[in-house]
Amino acid sequence: MPLLLLDLDNTLLDRAGPFRAWAEGFLAEIGAPAADIDWLLSIDADGLTDRWDIADAIRDRYALRIPSIDLVEELHDGVVGYTRLDPLVACALRIADDAGWLPVVVTNGSVRLEDAKIRQTGLDRYVADWVISEEAGVSKPNPRIFALAAQRARLPLRGAWVVGDSPEADIGGAAAVGLPSVWLHRGRSWTDTRFAPTRTVDSLIAAVSVVLAGG
Ligand SMILES: [Mg+2]
Repeated sequence: MPLLLLDLDNTLLDRAGPFRAWAEGFLAEIGAPAADIDWLLSIDADGLTDRWDIADAIRDRYALRIPSIDLVEELHDGVVGYTRLDPLVACALRIADDAGWLPVVVTNGSVRLEDAKIRQTGLDRYVADWVISEEAGVSKPNPRIFALAAQRARLPLRGAWVVGDSPEADIGGAAAVGLPSVWLHRGRSWTDTRFAPTRTVDSLIAAVSVVLAGG
């Protein structure tokens, strides 16, 4: 049985939408101008910025007296609260499973947040396992996190595919470990010259059909 190693944010679960929804509500709540959403989105950098740094930036800009830990918690709970599993993603995972692939999530992030998103959306019913960088002690693109996922599934890494939206973490990680990959472009063009995805698609269901067709 081959492994299907899947990224979480903006691959299996939309993160950009829930982050924006939370951010808009939060700005309204503290009485900040609605136009500040652009600043908050740029600070977040599509999820690349550490959540503690986001909290500090918010506190500084609005001179808030809320402790950073409370802001981080609010961000966590807010984003999880807005996160939904797209039925087409559930369907794609079911198709992969029926075709004999073992879907395993490999995600960079905190145990608390990633675990909550996977369970509260019901995604846990569609994947065999999930490996979270905080708990693994190593993050994508380090090949060791993919090796750990394979070890936990008691399956060889050889024959696996990696699917994700991050050029560096997902596609760079697949290249580093010597696996083929599918990149979800989300409207972007590929620019990295050090490595490239095996295939580029616009949705998870398209990624699964590429993998099932053998590339
Ligand atoms: Mg991602």
